[in-house]
Amino acid sequence: IQVAVLQESRPQEKRVAMVPAVADKLSKLGCNISMLSGAGLASKLPDSAYSNVNFVTSAEQLLADADIVLAVQPPTTSQIALLKPGAILISFVYQHKEADLTRLLCDKNITSFAMEQVPRISRAQAMDALSSQAALAGYYAALLGATQLARILPMMTTAVGSIRPARCLVMGLGVAGLQALATARRLGAITEGYDVRPETKEQAESLGAKFVDTGVDARGEGGYARELTQDEKDKIASVVTQHIQQADIVITTAAIPGRPSPKLISKAQVEGMKLGAVIIDLAAEGGGNCEYSVPGETIQQGQISIVAPLNVPSMLAEHASELYAKNLLNLLQLFVIDGEIKLDWQDEVLAKTVLTHQGEIKPAAVKAALT
Ligand code: NAD
Repeated sequence: IQVAVLQESRPQEKRVAMVPAVADKLSKLGCNISMLSGAGLASKLPDSAYSNVNFVTSAEQLLADADIVLAVQPPTTSQIALLKPGAILISFVYQHKEADLTRLLCDKNITSFAMEQVPRISRAQAMDALSSQAALAGYYAALLGATQLARILPMMTTAVGSIRPARCLVMGLGVAGLQALATARRLGAITEGYDVRPETKEQAESLGAKFVDTGVDARGEGGYARELTQDEKDKIASVVTQHIQQADIVITTAAIPGRPSPKLISKAQVEGMKLGAVIIDLAAEGGGNCEYSVPGETIQQGQISIVAPLNVPSMLAEHASELYAKNLLNLLQLFVIDGEIKLDWQDEVLAKTVLTHQGEIKPAAVKAALT
């Protein structure tokens, strides 16, 4: 089985879909792995770090015979043009933003698996790249908050008096939010968390944080949140505003699958914040959780900094690549068996993750939207 690892070409993307330890395991499964020379460099992985990879110098050489193609970001149209019809692609695809690309994969008869579609069931946890990458992003959000602030996080007793610990509020307690809470607490902050799924109360408390209870229950499908009604939003604002305004750092991570990020912090709420406070908006990809957020930028609104970074996992490329490549390996092990590709469509993980196969868009909802 010929496996090709794409060179990531999107701006700011430092991750790579293959790390040496995963290449070793895949070669034991009967795969010959090829990469473009230098593809791992941005993740601190020079060609010499890999012992079971064949390095080539052109995309044509890389892709002409590839049976399986691995990537982090969706491939470019020119990369898709080089794929062998019938090849298997595994990467993030983000079909809701990449309709043309999805149609192209379909027309080219590529069997594509979209990593964002891995179902959130126990058996698929080791393949869940949204979670592995979100955990790193949550950790980094707390560090970004700490370094943007002109204050320290822990309590400190000095000869000239004591410094009180900073307060960190995390809004949205999914995978990223819980990691952000844990990290801010380890740095010495007093932590508070808030979410619209009541089960997050216990999770926040187990990390030493206080849960801000708004009394709203907006549990949606598959463990995710649903969109809120105006009444619910008003009820939440009446409780949460005070906590936003007492915080030194507010980290927001709220997302609703397939929808723009909900606005959790209004301009008026920002204006009432403590001088020098910082907002780290991890939902920038979906437009941001704060009304002032400008995706990809840090802005100052009076004395408040609003940081809305894009592609945070790429800022930790080394570990992000390691976890992502392991997620891929676990998915590949479902169908690379005894040196052969055996796709079993009865397998729930494969059936739910597949986006295009044999010239068809597989998820019914996506097909209806795109054809
Ligand atoms: P996400 O990235 O979709 O959203 C982040 C958080 O924002 C969620 O906790 C959500 O409830 C919250 N949110 C949405 N709207 C909000 C609002 N208006 N106000 C406040 N918070 C709001 O979430 P995620 O990290 O992908 O995790 C979602 C759920 O899926 C969690 O319960 C997680 O434990 C679960 N999960 C399960 C598996 C698995 O079983 N394999 C894997 C990953 C995640």
